[in-house]
Amino acid sequence: MPKLVIVGTVALDNIRTPFGEVKNALGGSAFYAGLSASYWTEVGLVAVVGRDYPPDGFSVLNRHGVDVRGIEKSAELTFSWSGEYTYDLNTAHTLKTDLNCLLSFNPDIRKSYQDIDTLFLANIDPDIQGRILDDLEKAPSLVVLDTMNYWIETKKNSLLKVLKRIGILTINEGEARMLSGQFSLVQSARVIQDMGPETVIIKRGEYGSLVFEGKSIFASPAYPLEDVRDPTGAGDSFAGGFIGYLTRHEDRSNDRLRQSIVIGSAMASFCVSDFSSRGIENLKPPDVSRRLQEFSDLTSYRSLAPILRSDGSQ
Ligand code: AMP
Repeated sequence: MPKLVIVGTVALDNIRTPFGEVKNALGGSAFYAGLSASYWTEVGLVAVVGRDYPPDGFSVLNRHGVDVRGIEKSAELTFSWSGEYTYDLNTAHTLKTDLNCLLSFNPDIRKSYQDIDTLFLANIDPDIQGRILDDLEKAPSLVVLDTMNYWIETKKNSLLKVLKRIGILTINEGEARMLSGQFSLVQSARVIQDMGPETVIIKRGEYGSLVFEGKSIFASPAYPLEDVRDPTGAGDSFAGGFIGYLTRHEDRSNDRLRQSIVIGSAMASFCVSDFSSRGIENLKPPDVSRRLQEFSDLTSYRSLAPILRSDGSQ
């Protein structure tokens, strides 16, 4: 029985970045999050794929030990997202969203999983996210949710309802502003916390992330990579990494959350180094350890002594 269950999309993506282009590439919020989380805990996916979904997708998941019992096969086409990034790699421009088999997706989570420790409601229709919570007989110890502009624009009321029922929200900075109606990210986080989640994690692409838990704020940088090739999936890999690590530990202290955010940031840095999911496939423990050490070096400095002149004069 996996400790972490992820509900989200398994997709075929068409992506163009300044560094290349891929068509029908393996993607989707649950796909990226599941692969990333698989390095940290046992994980199961709840999703749907269409008749055109290639066996490769399942091979990659199987190779990483991801439980795919909860992935339904539909006679429709697979959910497909076409997006483009220009030189601002922080902003994905959606060219087309083909919901396809997602339109009739009505998962019965109890068929695959009953007693869920941690649930990640990855980016998907908020009506589906809400139905999953309705269906569970026992509340998970932690529910994390992710969403995006598409759902804020098309299903805001459903999203607002489901936000009341979760512990942690992950959201991009532009989408945090859109959802809260605030420009300041601190104020955005406060407004969103009032909508329900105690913890709000704002993802800022190459600028890292800001984590608001109760009154505390934590900032993590993104790893400064020499070559970013495709940012698709960075947010989902980040989420998969941090939730996977949190799931492994009983304690859900703020210290543990901070550590888990660094893990998520490291996983995102692998993801963006190549197209589709290639950057987070087949990672070896020394690769991950090295990246975590690099994160520690990047952010540590000797504590500062008071440096102001005592009389405050110039
Ligand atoms: P991100 O981690 O934010 O870059 O998410 C990238 C993934 O989100 C892609 O692989 C897409 O297939 C998936 N995606 C794009 N649009 C949607 C949507 N409206 N709902 C769910 N998943 C989506």
